[in-house]
Amino acid sequence: MICCAESSKQALRKENIRKDNVKIMEKPACEGGTPVRKTPIYYGHQYIDEADVSAVVDVLRSDYLTCGPKIEELEQKLCDITGAKYAVVCSNGTAALHIACMAAGVKEGDEVITTPITFAASANCALYCGARPVFADIDPETYNIDPENVKKLTTSKTKAVVAVDYTGQSVQLDELLEHCHSNGITLIEDGAHVIGTKYKGRMNGSIADMTTFSFHPVKTVTSGEGGAVLTNDETLYKKLLLYRSHGITRDTSVMEHESDGPWYYEMVDMGYNYRITDIQAALLISQLDKLSMFSKRRKEIVARYNEAFSELDNIFVQKEIPESDTTRHLYILRIIPEKISINRRQFFDALAAENVICNVHYIPVYYFPQYERLGYKKGLCPNAEKLYDEMLSLPLYYAMSDEDVESVIKAVTKIAKYYAK
Ligand SMILES: *Cc1c(COP(=O)(O)O)cnc(C)c1O
Repeated sequence: MICCAESSKQALRKENIRKDNVKIMEKPACEGGTPVRKTPIYYGHQYIDEADVSAVVDVLRSDYLTCGPKIEELEQKLCDITGAKYAVVCSNGTAALHIACMAAGVKEGDEVITTPITFAASANCALYCGARPVFADIDPETYNIDPENVKKLTTSKTKAVVAVDYTGQSVQLDELLEHCHSNGITLIEDGAHVIGTKYKGRMNGSIADMTTFSFHPVKTVTSGEGGAVLTNDETLYKKLLLYRSHGITRDTSVMEHESDGPWYYEMVDMGYNYRITDIQAALLISQLDKLSMFSKRRKEIVARYNEAFSELDNIFVQKEIPESDTTRHLYILRIIPEKISINRRQFFDALAAENVICNVHYIPVYYFPQYERLGYKKGLCPNAEKLYDEMLSLPLYYAMSDEDVESVIKAVTKIAKYYAK
């Protein structure tokens, strides 16, 4: 009897909770409800202020549009911020990866280990040098390349590892550096997402053999298009300078022939025109003045998202790496398929109907037809493939207002609760 009374009480309580839930459970816009937002919000956006505008205008009124004083000023600033000894700025993050691979001596017949959960450029840089990208699977919780898998895939052909600080969380640099250096491998950190992050108290950019940055407008700071390679190694630095500009030098100490006169320069190696303009450099110098402000705001938004989403048991947020004090570039939300009745595509569309326009970072690189033609097949990296099926990137950028952040939380919560299994 007591038992029965207890259980009917429990049933009643459950019913009340369910009634409450129904009351607060709003209909998603894709089911005919009212969208959370009236206007769309996208996953990323640059922030440009008047100081940026006048920095660019000043260069336009100066003598140098390219190869001028803003280049070295920017390089010095990147060194000051990160603690790296040398910085070579260039036309974009992809060019940075290419010259970094060249400086590492990557060539035909070599292998370069990287992650599939990245932008294609992290693997393409190996192909540019005639080498073969080898994809190491990710850690299923942090989503960064798993050092154990890097070790397993290392062969006598491995020349470089391109490790991506996915979403801005530092890769495990200590483990990777130790493995690379004991095997004669160069560690290239693809830090396109990482500017502003610290690993064990040191700024990323000053730790790996080379770190590349991208300054595309969706990244934390922008020059429109732009990139950089940072290193502490003078030999690598000199090579990077050459490869950035046609393999041409005016330094007589490295010339092979006698100088013909003051106009003389020599092409001593193969290189490209990967230079950045002073116009872009000035913009980036001005943007870097705001880096700590950008970083602070990104951290605030991430903390707010983490707090709000911890209440939902059918979505999963990226696990923080304790050694990484992270300036997050992307915020990844992952659905738990066992606990939700819609798939990622439907979740994405449902958010879009609420006017929260997400993105997906990234399609595993070896899924692309260009890679299929090179013999890569699905099934290579199961953790990466599962993540790809379940994730999306929420809006995250400096200029988001508190109302923007709350609207994203509201939309995600509404959909996650409505479709909970
Ligand atoms: C953006 C990005 C790049 C390429 O940078 P670009 O400046 O666009 O050439 C490379 N790797 C990763 C991980 C990126 O996010």
